[in-house]
Amino acid sequence: MPMVFTSATLYISPNKYSQIPKIMKKIVFAATFFLINSLLVLGNEIPDVNIRIANYKDDKVSALSYTFDDGMKEHYTLAVPQLEKYGFRGTFWIIGSTINEDSQHITDTTHMTWEELRIMAEKGHEIASHTWSHQNLVKITREEAVKEIEKNDSIILEKVGLIPISLCYPYNAKNDEIIALASKNRVGTRLFEFAIGTESTIESLNKKLKEIIDNREWAVAMIHGINYGYDAFPDPNVLWNNFEKVKALDNQIWVGTFSQVASYIAERDNIQLNTVKEQGKVTVTPQLSLDKNLFKEPLTAIIETTGVQSFEIQQGGKKITPKVLSDKVIFDFDPFGGDIQITYK
Ligand SMILES: [Zn+2]
Repeated sequence: MPMVFTSATLYISPNKYSQIPKIMKKIVFAATFFLINSLLVLGNEIPDVNIRIANYKDDKVSALSYTFDDGMKEHYTLAVPQLEKYGFRGTFWIIGSTINEDSQHITDTTHMTWEELRIMAEKGHEIASHTWSHQNLVKITREEAVKEIEKNDSIILEKVGLIPISLCYPYNAKNDEIIALASKNRVGTRLFEFAIGTESTIESLNKKLKEIIDNREWAVAMIHGINYGYDAFPDPNVLWNNFEKVKALDNQIWVGTFSQVASYIAERDNIQLNTVKEQGKVTVTPQLSLDKNLFKEPLTAIIETTGVQSFEIQQGGKKITPKVLSDKVIFDFDPFGGDIQITYK
């Protein structure tokens, strides 16, 4: 029974002093009524806590992978330092037969050395496969294609210490059979890309960034030559300027290696979250049927809630510190790491 006081009721004229006690009673009654009512509502309310997986890491709206084709020397001398200046990591598609042993044994000055690739891998760049000798896989026999793929995996394992978990087709030439062959034991292969090179301008790349954000998509940049070689830049500052722009859009674009983003998307699209809600507590059991030795990217979960002040989250006994934003809480978890316990107040 809410009470409404009109301005007329509350107006106390000098000749109505006798009404004061009655009005006071009304005010006290109304205030008490509202206070008790509010307390009852608060006490019974279980804040609704809903959990979902973010489209991209850290709940960014889009993703961008810088991928460099053919293992060019300038990728190491110029592109890597520029990427690292902004904290970015790139993906480098390597043709095993063209890589030099080390700085003492250079047979092709336009390509990198295994020594350089090891340094890049240690810093978190992705060393990936572009096949052994860059043949058009669609135009050779299946046996030859298998050899091109396997020989490159072996040499990269021997020289860098890892089997590439992603692959890029020479000339982007592929068909269903080749894709099936090349995708075995990988998180993905490059099936779409946009070129950054000779034709690119600062304006065209800015426009592309706007598109990536507007379409909430994953864009895969294909970069070849820097100052020389196929699709090289008349002025490489066009590329460095793009890195700087992307860094400024850090809160919207996730810059990840090809494998990181490919893994994230596959995990995101295949995971099932089984949720059990109790008073003040949610248990989430992630279920993912992908190969856990291949798909290692943490996923970002979003808790959408209002009215919750503090969260404690742990997975497998390990505490997870969430990021608390105005309307949601986000945290990273291991999709193969077992039950996630969320307690909240
Ligand atoms: Zn190539």
